[in-house]
Amino acid sequence: MNSASSQEQEMEFALSQALERGELELFFQPKGDLHNGRIAGAEALLRWRRGDSLVMPGHFIPLAEQSGLVVPIGAWVIDSACARLRAWADQGYSETRLAVNVSARQFSVGDLETVVSEALARHAINPGRLELELTESMLMDDPESAVIQLQRLKNLGIKLSLDDFGTGYSSFTYLSHFPIDTLKVDQSFVRHMVSNAKIAGIVAAIIGLAHKMHLHVVAEGVESEAQLAYLRRLGCDEIQGFFFSHPLPEAEYLALLGADKTLPGQPTVDAAERTLLLVDDESGILSALRRMLRYEGYRILIANNAAEGLELLALEAVQVVISDQRMPGLTGTEFLTRVKDMHPDCLRIILSGQADMASVIDAINDGAVYKFLTKPWDDEKLRERIREAFRFQAALASIKHTQ
Ligand code: C2E
Ligand code: MG
Ligand code: MG
Repeated sequence: MNSASSQEQEMEFALSQALERGELELFFQPKGDLHNGRIAGAEALLRWRRGDSLVMPGHFIPLAEQSGLVVPIGAWVIDSACARLRAWADQGYSETRLAVNVSARQFSVGDLETVVSEALARHAINPGRLELELTESMLMDDPESAVIQLQRLKNLGIKLSLDDFGTGYSSFTYLSHFPIDTLKVDQSFVRHMVSNAKIAGIVAAIIGLAHKMHLHVVAEGVESEAQLAYLRRLGCDEIQGFFFSHPLPEAEYLALLGADKTLPGQPTVDAAERTLLLVDDESGILSALRRMLRYEGYRILIANNAAEGLELLALEAVQVVISDQRMPGLTGTEFLTRVKDMHPDCLRIILSGQADMASVIDAINDGAVYKFLTKPWDDEKLRERIREAFRFQAALASIKHTQ
């Protein structure tokens, strides 16, 4: 016992110096977007270069947590992550996201809000590019104050995700209160999901639950093509794991980004299956929408007014239509009321800068519109809304099909 504890002391001392000596490093593991096959971002994973060996976090994070060293180390991780995001944006990778892990101690005493806001400001980072990965166990010590603290962090504009989901408390009460964006399905589920029907059921349920709560789902620990394909079929949003890429040193990660590495087996989109019609009289809006959707894999049709829109709908099978409200000729709601009658399977969305209440109410009560969205829009949210619309449309179509 003595020698174990003196070894521990020695390691603690060495770790306390590791920061100053610049022995800590971040590796980056890409997350692949299952909707378009591209790299969505990465998770930063800490490594300690101690002499000739590279020490993995499992060997020193528990000690750092116990001794409190995890607080300054964690602050360094957040600052370094923001520095990398800045450097990558300067090299043209301004859309990539980076997630960092937060420890329990850091969350309870580390003044995370200040650490994060200072790092964001110091490196002039778009806060939406930074994500914190938290675990349920750290939130469940004192869930009420966790909710408040999470809300403060959210107010900075960053993203929050729940790591290792399914292995901790998985309390639905708190899940509904925590202002999080993403669930990360734990690797223990992914590992067995292809062969074990119960576990496959759990993964499918987590994905369904998350989507109902408008959360994004990332599956961790994907090691095989079968797991990847299955997760894609279940509608999972992103995957991370050795099958796509191990955690990499920065230069190698950037090489993957530069090469625009894509997920294997990304299905070529069946053009007839996912067609989106955009109707707006402003060509600037049409091109901004097109640009924002360029990697989503939809076939996009555009029309400058309702009449052109109706013509295209007659010519082509369209699953989702998004229309402006104020246009010369028919208004958006008038247009979609016609679409409802003529093409009832096509899901209808209004994207409007302004709308008079009466026409909105009528359109909704008539069942002419599925969603009413406003300009200006948030790219990520709008993309998610549109994915949701395609999922919903597909579900409706399959019900009809089986009837
Ligand atoms: P985590 O946040 O759940 O990170 C995922 C871990 O799974 C990483 O291990 C990653 O290398 C590993 N992994 C990724 N894909 C696969 C796969 O396909 N199969 C398998 N078997 N494993 C895979 P790593 O880097 O050893 O990190 C372990 C844990 O240490 C992390 O779990 C996280 O909880 C913690 N950690 C890492 N970096 C930090 C940090 O900067 N701060 C804090 N507080 N904790 C960190
Ligand atoms: Mg993590
Ligand atoms: Mg995890």
